[in-house]
Amino acid sequence: MPLLTLLRQGNPLANADHQREILEMPGDGALPMFHKTLHEHGVADLKRRKVTTLQVNVGKLCNQTCRHCHVDAGPDRRELMTQETFEHCLRLIRDFEVETVDITGGAPEMNPHFMWFVTEIRKLGRHVIDRCNLTILTVPGFTHFPLFLAEQEVEIVASLPCYLEQNCDSQRGSGVFEKSIRALQRLNELGYGVEGSSLRLSLVYNPTGLSLPPNQQKLEQSYRNQLRARFGIEFQQLYTITNMPISRFLDDLLASERYHEYMSLLARSFNPSTIDGLMCRSTLSVDWEGFLYDCDFNQMLNLATHHETRLHVSSVRLDQLENHPIAVGRHCFGCTAGAGSSCQGALTG
Ligand code: SF4
Ligand code: SF4
Repeated sequence: MPLLTLLRQGNPLANADHQREILEMPGDGALPMFHKTLHEHGVADLKRRKVTTLQVNVGKLCNQTCRHCHVDAGPDRRELMTQETFEHCLRLIRDFEVETVDITGGAPEMNPHFMWFVTEIRKLGRHVIDRCNLTILTVPGFTHFPLFLAEQEVEIVASLPCYLEQNCDSQRGSGVFEKSIRALQRLNELGYGVEGSSLRLSLVYNPTGLSLPPNQQKLEQSYRNQLRARFGIEFQQLYTITNMPISRFLDDLLASERYHEYMSLLARSFNPSTIDGLMCRSTLSVDWEGFLYDCDFNQMLNLATHHETRLHVSSVRLDQLENHPIAVGRHCFGCTAGAGSSCQGALTG
């Protein structure tokens, strides 16, 4: 279906196939195909190296409904990883010698097996990251999570798209900023983010508009100055992340008729020095049902790993992953634009 027809319909993009169809439409010079751009820079196929990080999406249930959410998460979603699938993940973590388990959602803490899963990974001695939206830590029934996370020495990577209340609330919902500040203060009390502490607290910034993130180091300094002066908050690091043209953000781009503008910005900002560090080269992503993807973004687009049958966490072998080509599409320009982007922030200085 032509893009303009879709634009005129103004339909929210309900399914991943529909999104992929839009992203992979034949383009003009301003919207090249991602794999062709890679070829032009001498990369025949993007291939995975050793899997060092398993990113586990434990479900789409969330207490928020942020405008930019690429997961389309919210309080009405019922998709949650089961204990059986968690057990398969544990096998993979142990057998493939995965170093870091990066837990995401939705709000990961809302999965009823979250605490058990974290405890089991820590027994294996592996590093755990909780991608926390902060506000969940202030919701009745979840206020014990900060202490649990501290006891398990879980790294917290927390979304805070701006240090200004208005900007933050416009993207994430009314009242989110105030609750996020309270949660950060509680985490600081427990030792998170404090200089010399082993409890790591990182913040995540993503642009509120149609722009690339600013310089990560400079923005980190602004965050530090503002949060320290106004709220006494400390953190170790700020990650800047580019908004990916997926799910709700893609909806917004189409509804506002700015899809071409944004995609052209990403494509013309292609930076070849980001290719080496792309997160899909060392990360494997598993969805709430246990199916495997090259990254969280491919998961949202239902773009499976390059195999004849879909790989599942219960049966995957290491030789099916390492040195295998990664499935790419135009959304990948979001990872290679400017300083590059990944779940660990910018890819180049
Ligand atoms: S962006 Fe994060 S906090 Fe916001 S709705 Fe999505 S999963 Fe929830
Ligand atoms: S979206 Fe980014 S991380 Fe995912 S496959 Fe593309 S380049 Fe790799």
